[in-house]
Amino acid sequence: MAGLFTEDQARKAIVDIGKRVYLRKYVGANDGNISCRISGDRIVVTPTGVSKGYMTEEMMVVMKPDGTVLSGGKPSSEVKMHLRAYQDNPDINGVVHVHPPVATAFSTIGMGLDEPLVAEGVLVTGNIPLVSYAKPGSYEVPDGIAPYLKEYHGVLLERHGALTWGSDVYQALYRMEAMEHQAEILKNALELSRLTGKKIRYFTRSQLNDLVDIRKQMGIETGGIPKCPDE
Ligand SMILES: [Zn+2]
Repeated sequence: MAGLFTEDQARKAIVDIGKRVYLRKYVGANDGNISCRISGDRIVVTPTGVSKGYMTEEMMVVMKPDGTVLSGGKPSSEVKMHLRAYQDNPDINGVVHVHPPVATAFSTIGMGLDEPLVAEGVLVTGNIPLVSYAKPGSYEVPDGIAPYLKEYHGVLLERHGALTWGSDVYQALYRMEAMEHQAEILKNALELSRLTGKKIRYFTRSQLNDLVDIRKQMGIETGGIPKCPDE
């Protein structure tokens, strides 16, 4: 399994990503959790009850994929989502869970993000399906995300937040950033459309097919087929 982070690299990356998601206001207080799969089939994950903006490398919890804690304190109760991602898809080596305010707001009105307005919505973000609400920390949460772990790059969790994954934890972060950026563009477009009376110009099906082809040429087979509202 070439390319996996070492434990040291994982600890550093998680501290770095914690600061980024905190400064971007994707989390408040002690929200969110971040994890990496490392060599030796171990998972390094953020502990429960800490601000993601003020973590140190020593705080991290090391676990087995079955949930056994090997070192560190208590992991987040939301770690079940991370473990399920690693169990179900061997290509996933990094997972980020945060509560980005715009994408999360879309989840509260029952909307996923699968009608892209700009090319990156197809090329980087892909379709972001909405997973129905489940009690936080319960096994219904990982069961809800399971159908999407192979074909997509992330999901919105209804009235909760978002989860993204990738071949390493930085790809998971970039997908989260791209998702929130798409959500901000969509929110702005919906507001401007309402203010001006002009319709949003969605991609046509042939334009979307071209973008999916470009994505395949980039070596990306995942992301789902974007929806075309005008069809
Ligand atoms: Zn959460």
